[in-house]
Amino acid sequence: MTGEPGRTACLALLASALDAVDLGVVALDDARRVVLWNLWMERHAGLAAGTVMGQDFLTLYPELRRRRIDAAITLALRDNFPSLLSQTLNKAPFALYATAAAAARNERMQQAVAVTPLEVAGAPRHCLIQVHDVSMAVGREKLLREQTMVLRSQTFADGLTGIANRRHFDVAMEKEWRRARRNGSALSLLMIDIDHFKAYNDHYGHQRGDECLIQVAAALATLLQRPSDLLARYGGEEFAVILPETEGGAALGMAETMRAGVCGLGVPHAHNDGADPHITVSIGIATMDGAAAAGADAAALIGAADRALYVAKRAGRNRVAAQPPV
Ligand code: GH3
Ligand code: MG
Ligand code: MG
Repeated sequence: MTGEPGRTACLALLASALDAVDLGVVALDDARRVVLWNLWMERHAGLAAGTVMGQDFLTLYPELRRRRIDAAITLALRDNFPSLLSQTLNKAPFALYATAAAAARNERMQQAVAVTPLEVAGAPRHCLIQVHDVSMAVGREKLLREQTMVLRSQTFADGLTGIANRRHFDVAMEKEWRRARRNGSALSLLMIDIDHFKAYNDHYGHQRGDECLIQVAAALATLLQRPSDLLARYGGEEFAVILPETEGGAALGMAETMRAGVCGLGVPHAHNDGADPHITVSIGIATMDGAAAAGADAAALIGAADRALYVAKRAGRNRVAAQPPV
């Protein structure tokens, strides 16, 4: 048996330990009066134990009345049932601040709260509230989520021009193809290739070639009309445009606008072989009629647009041509 002096030493030790732990510790009696309030709570709530002891908990925190924590305290006291308050649903139930500066900015610390029934010998059941500061973990999680978003967008973006890359195109093409078949709607594809770009590189240098690709991509991007239209860098100096729910006639209109748009940039190209001494593009168009698509696949549409592009090149470049998918 521990004698009286031993018991006093033990209580002092417990009190020191309670004040040393890096979490908020509060105990309420069966009438929800505060009977324990450790140093951590004093520091972060800005309330001395002396002023809160014996006070009704919900008088102290009236904003928590009928909130999740209020229910958790009832569950612990009445039903002997512990609760863990989800961090995502209850970010900062208590007015607790990491520092005085955070308090001045009214920036609450993010909290994880556990409410546990507490059996006390010779007295009705109490309840223990433990509060953890999870601001660091929440911050790290937010940073990771943001980094994931950036990485994901980089995975699907072309490093040079910033538009969708080939991988993005492949995924979108499959998706739009299936959607068109399901809905029986039309789907058009444009293949856009810069004319005599090898000669441009040879004459002006690779760096200027890169700048030209950026300029052309930006000009094409501004001409897209619907959020579902997708412009992608298909390969070196080749771009592709997916136009969902677009018939051949509308696709032809869009292709002509894009051809004229690039031409209108007026980027000098002394070796563009034809009459126009500026950067020009040739465009191949293919359209799938949703109702007639049975048996065909997305590759057939890409093949048809490629053939159409070849026809446009053969016919003299800086022009648009269409081919049906087979
Ligand atoms: P055509 O009119 O028949 O399309 O002729 P072209 O010279 O454009 O076609 P070709 O396929 O012979 O040459 C494409 C050139 O595009 C070759 C390559 O140096 C250039 N190219 C491809 N990717 C890049 C790039 O990322 N940057 C630069 N600067 N040039 C590129
Ligand atoms: Mg090419
Ligand atoms: Mg080319």
